[in-house]
Order: sequence, then structure tokens, then C-alpha cells
Amino acid sequence: MKLFLIFLLLQLSLSASMFACDETITIDSVEYTIDDVWCGKLIDTTLIAKYEDLSRIPDSLCHKDYKIYVRSDATNAFVQMAQAAIKDSVFFTAKSGFRSPSYQKQMIRRRLKEGKSFAEIIRYAAPPGYRGHSTGYALDIATATYPFAKSIAYRWLSEHANSFGFIETYPKGNSTLKTWEPWHWEFIGDSVSNSKE
Ligand SMILES: [Zn+2]
Repeated sequence: MKLFLIFLLLQLSLSASMFACDETITIDSVEYTIDDVWCGKLIDTTLIAKYEDLSRIPDSLCHKDYKIYVRSDATNAFVQMAQAAIKDSVFFTAKSGFRSPSYQKQMIRRRLKEGKSFAEIIRYAAPPGYRGHSTGYALDIATATYPFAKSIAYRWLSEHANSFGFIETYPKGNSTLKTWEPWHWEFIGDSVSNSKE
């Protein structure tokens, strides 16, 4: 009986730790709970890109007049990929690249002021310090037609992006609880072949 109780308690504490996130972040003295989507994805600060790691994507490959930076190897790979797409008459641009934790914090602050809830905001944007655009490897890609998932650009990327070292971070039906984000790609370089095994 005693053993059974211990077993039961162990099970309960395990399931509680699996389903409830005890991570919080504080913005302007208000503490917000991190939801299950981001729970456990706080990254080590050494993984956050520094300005010297970044290089700017050429203006012609950026959405509108956006100035977009990602890590230099990701910039080079994106340029090569976009040029290969152009040869196939497929056009897309980078819409978002590196975003620092302080930028994320400002953005969340702005949206909270607009009346959005914290949970709503972090559905698409990483909480500051969490994996997302802060590593300098993630890129949001845009094209002229909408929705992106139905665009020729997305079809082209689904077929070719892997060979340039990019993966779709949150594909349809992904296991991370994160909504499908067909525009969000991440440069992982040569690790692509490993991720496919
Ligand atoms: Zn993104």
C-alpha cells in the first residue's frame, strides 16, 4: 500500500511537471506565465546572436524597405536560395530576421497596450529570451500572394529549401504544439541531412 502511494505521488508530480509550466517572465513588474508552446524553450544566452554575428540581407531580397539581418552564413544561404528561385521564376523576400530579446519585449509591451492578451501575443512571437528569432538563424519569408501556404513560393521552398540548409521550423501537424507557420524557416546548414534521418 505504502509503495503504491509513493508510486501514485510520483506519477502525480511527474504529470504536473509535464503539463504545468512554472516559467514566467516579468514585463513592467507584471509576471506572465509562459504557455505550453514555449515552455522549456528558454535558450542559453550564448545562443543569442550578437550584432557582430549578423549581416544584412540585400535590399532587393527584403520585403518593402525592411532592413533584415541574420547570421552571415544564413544570409549567404538565403541569397543563394532566392537567386536559385528567381531562375525558376519564383520570387520571395525576407520579412523578418534577427530580433533581440529586448526588441521582443518592446513588441510585447506595445501589443499589450493595444489590448491584446499575453497568451495571444506569444502565439506567434517568442517571449524574450526564448527560441525564435533571437538566435539569428530564423527568417520569415514573404511573397506577393496570400495565403503564403498556398503560394508558389511556399511550394518551391518545400521542395528546395533543405538543399540550401533551411528547414521549416513549425510544419503542418508539428509536434511542438506550435501553430503551422509556413513562412518561418530556420537555417541549420549541413545539419539538414541529419534532421532528415
Ligand atoms: Zn518567424
